[in-house]
Amino acid sequence: MEARKILLNEDEMPRQWYNILADIKMNPPLGPDGKPVTPDALAPVFPMNLIEQEVSSERWIDIPEEVLGILKIWRPSPLVRAFSLEKALGTPAKIYFKNESVSPPGSHKPNTAVPQAYYNKEFGIKRMTTETGAGQWGSALSFACSQFGLECKIFMVRVSFDQKPYRKSMMSTWGGQCVASPSMETKAGRDALAKDPNTPGSLGIAISEAIEAAVTDPSGKTRYSLGSVLNHVMLHQTIIGLEAQKQLAKVGDYPDVVIGCAGGGSNFAGLAFPFVLDKINGKAIEIYPVEPAACPTLTKAPFVYDHGDTARYTPLLPMHSLGHAFVPPPFHAGGLRYHGMAPTVSQLVVEGLIKPKAVTQLDAYAAGILLARTEGIIPAPETTHALACVVEEAKKAKEEGKAKVILFNWSGHGLLDLMAYDKYFAGELSNFVLEDKEIEAAEKVFENFPKPAIMKSR
Ligand SMILES: *Cc1c(COP(=O)(O)O)cnc(C)c1O
Repeated sequence: MEARKILLNEDEMPRQWYNILADIKMNPPLGPDGKPVTPDALAPVFPMNLIEQEVSSERWIDIPEEVLGILKIWRPSPLVRAFSLEKALGTPAKIYFKNESVSPPGSHKPNTAVPQAYYNKEFGIKRMTTETGAGQWGSALSFACSQFGLECKIFMVRVSFDQKPYRKSMMSTWGGQCVASPSMETKAGRDALAKDPNTPGSLGIAISEAIEAAVTDPSGKTRYSLGSVLNHVMLHQTIIGLEAQKQLAKVGDYPDVVIGCAGGGSNFAGLAFPFVLDKINGKAIEIYPVEPAACPTLTKAPFVYDHGDTARYTPLLPMHSLGHAFVPPPFHAGGLRYHGMAPTVSQLVVEGLIKPKAVTQLDAYAAGILLARTEGIIPAPETTHALACVVEEAKKAKEEGKAKVILFNWSGHGLLDLMAYDKYFAGELSNFVLEDKEIEAAEKVFENFPKPAIMKSR
């Protein structure tokens, strides 16, 4: 009998993360003066040990023992052969996924929350602040802080705060304190509410609030944490792809196609970057980040310098951006409602090493339901975007009669997103597709910023 789950023992877990900065050229982040930011300038926001990791170009970075000890609560995560989906689609393709829904908060996010809490604790920090979209990141950081005895404060995007009340309960259970964003607790929040008292909020606004709450703490013992986008976050997530490589080797397979949904880019990067390295070294492999058509950062927005947040507290980052003031329509994959994209993922698009795709909300849910009824796991709304692409690729393999190997990331479960499924069944969900003129209007904000160089690393 062929194995359905391909498992690693705990002692087979990767001991190092893969750092893609060793293998690609990047435009530097820029400060308010238009010059590259120095590590010191970031010191009020992040602990120095994480800043060092953010700018490191070492190819392999050791995972601390204490971090491995906590990751072992749920890692190594299973690699699953999606036999039932293959059968339902009648495809000759072999479909595999990494099941990142098995972590305590239910997504890939604790892969970076745990090391981030660890490095903050090592640096003498007592309290962490952050933003959260759908609540996955806030619950992951609350979980990680509870493991290291740190306090945790979370600004949760209003629309998700109202749609997903149990995420807040989860954060409270792990000792985190969660408020809806925009809030009255910060200047960034008060400004956003003054502009529009009924705003659904955005990740950009929530990030501004969380940064402000960290840098204004008079004790100096609070730092901010970001759940995606930054280089060190992508780094920590590579444990997913490195495990997948070992697991596929056990069954003698190698992917032709690698797929992940992309909000800020971290779960995609986590699975894909180790395979990007293989591609750089000559392997033929297609790699697709998949985003919502309602927030089409990689597929429609230009590669520019823009701020990571609405109040412009962050440095200018070289990335595909819809504009830092962009408030995406309130579709249900809260974790994909971000105006920008990880600079590393953006750079790979510029270099043509990966090819972005966009899918609509209704296609995503249809694929999500097919997967729930075949593979059994109810996917997070974010994950369903990857699934829509997987289904399309599997159908294409059938038309072409090719036994392709497809690998994707099951970034999380949707057990706290069931309201969205109810709405889908009730026919209350619609497709938001961003019009070109809306995109042009949103892009005015970075018109006068410096432009990043279009660089190819080879
Ligand atoms: C947060 C989240 C995402 C999107 O964030 P990335 O940084 O792009 O990975 C995707 N899936 C799930 C389940 C999430 O919680």
